[in-house]
Amino acid sequence: MNFELDQEHRQIRDTVANFAEREIKPHCAHWDKSGHFPRDVIEKIGALGFLGVSFPERFGGGGADTLAQALVVEGLSRFDASVGLTCAAHMSLSCGHIAGFASDEQRERYLPDMIAGKKLGAWCLTEPSSGSDAAAMRTRAVRDGDRYTISGSKMFITNGSVADVYVVTAVTDSSARRGGISAFIVDRGTPGLSNGRKIEKLGLRASDTAEVILDNVSIPAANLIGKAGEGYTQAMKVLEGGRIGIAGFAIGIARGAFEDAAAYAKERRQFGRPIADLQAIQWMLADMATRIEASWMLLYRAAALKDKGRPFGRQAAMAKLYASETAMWTTTKAVQIHGGYGYVTDFPMERYMRDAKLAEIGEGTSEVQRMIIAKSLLKEGYSAD
Ligand SMILES: Cc1cc2nc3c(=O)[nH]c(=O)nc-3n(C[C@H](O)[C@H](O)[C@H](O)COP(=O)(O)OP(=O)(O)OC[C@H]3O[C@@H](n4cnc5c(N)ncnc54)[C@H](O)[C@@H]3O)c2cc1C
Repeated sequence: MNFELDQEHRQIRDTVANFAEREIKPHCAHWDKSGHFPRDVIEKIGALGFLGVSFPERFGGGGADTLAQALVVEGLSRFDASVGLTCAAHMSLSCGHIAGFASDEQRERYLPDMIAGKKLGAWCLTEPSSGSDAAAMRTRAVRDGDRYTISGSKMFITNGSVADVYVVTAVTDSSARRGGISAFIVDRGTPGLSNGRKIEKLGLRASDTAEVILDNVSIPAANLIGKAGEGYTQAMKVLEGGRIGIAGFAIGIARGAFEDAAAYAKERRQFGRPIADLQAIQWMLADMATRIEASWMLLYRAAALKDKGRPFGRQAAMAKLYASETAMWTTTKAVQIHGGYGYVTDFPMERYMRDAKLAEIGEGTSEVQRMIIAKSLLKEGYSAD
């Protein structure tokens, strides 16, 4: 067991922090207010190698481990969770699906540009009537010779209106529920692929969330990922990895809220002394930092198991669940420590709180994480090995 970041991880953490301080921090409040999607910044993140940090070097990646990717997402989310989510969805979901399950030819075709930030990915599982119960999807893909025609609609898709590469799941055999779902790659510009209305959100307003409409979209059968019928299993595996990224996203938001709240508490004076001298405030800060550190420990463990090729679904769900609830709790307390200034948009506290809520919903709600954890515990029992 090693509880310290090694030299490589520290370097990644510090480089991301320097970048985010310089390129993101000065602008993120404005991006949030105006709903601006900072594509140029995402491209810079790609050019610096952050998007590919944990992907194989032969595709232009950095060849580092899962923790390295989580550090990137955490470091970006510390200042702007919208940028963090954009990158997390791109890396863990779209690139992750292609890297994990696509053919070598497909990987070589898509990953180098995606990793370099030249092409952005969207991962399309959720539909208007199927979220937690993803297997109830209605989008259909019908094979005709060497082509598939896909029809349906996908909901709440991160990067949905700005992506270049769409990974789309669809039913190819309606008699086989989970085993009848397949995954495909659809390129931007394919006739029939379009977006519905712009989705306005509580938080993460500088990230792109869109409905993706597939109206008789015809693609080559060669765009099928893996074999027909494997799409649901692939998607669940992709989500397992994605949850480590969302834990990093949540920790980044919580850390930002904690650091800003601690600094504010030292400056803000009431009753003739800094509010940081008050035990009520100290206890909030102590609980915040304890929860953040516990979230990191869960993340480290899930990431280490994944990199060893061992099952990590339960640990990833635990990390995601705990870090998400930590982010929501911590940001709420950070608003409290700021008093009225926490409630107004001059300070980033209310933004942190709005952004944190998504962590409890996206890539499986907290209820779904508890279902996954309980199912695994009841089947396999508990062991901390
Ligand atoms: C900003 C944003 C970005 C997103 N990005 C993506 C993306 O890139 N790609 C993508 O595919 N999806 C994306 N999603 C969709 C997201 O993953 C879903 O919203 C989420 O999985 C929940 O599905 P739902 O919204 O349909 O809620 P529902 O599944 O309808 O759930 C509603 C409520 O019921 C609870 N519930 C449901 N089933 C159970 C159960 N069996 N036991 C207990 N409680 C249950 C849920 O926990 C929740 O509280 C995004 C969503 C948002 C808001």
